[in-house]
Amino acid sequence: MLNLEQTKELYDLLRGESEVNIKSNKEVEFEINKSKFYTKKSHLPRMTDEQAFLVIYILQEAYRFEEFIPDHYEICSQCGELYDSELEGGTTGDEMYCGDCYTEEENED
Ligand SMILES: [Zn+2]
Repeated sequence: MLNLEQTKELYDLLRGESEVNIKSNKEVEFEINKSKFYTKKSHLPRMTDEQAFLVIYILQEAYRFEEFIPDHYEICSQCGELYDSELEGGTTGDEMYCGDCYTEEENED
């Protein structure tokens, strides 16, 4: 089962937000869960938060019996970051917020 940090690493890769080392004109290197990968720069994904979370959500739901990614990891409606809804954050109507954003919401009232 992936922990939150590992899931965030995957989420960031899908959004094109991982740290990459440029090796040459076209080749880049990046690290996921301490494994190194090499690819063409043009092959790196650049999904929106929503697209990247759809992939995470599919991995949560389609592989729920394998418990690949826990289903309580959610995307924050405000900042777009992943968080563990069992440990932090909260919901307002249909919106789900991470710990940081949920507190800010309350302070605005
Ligand atoms: Zn947030």
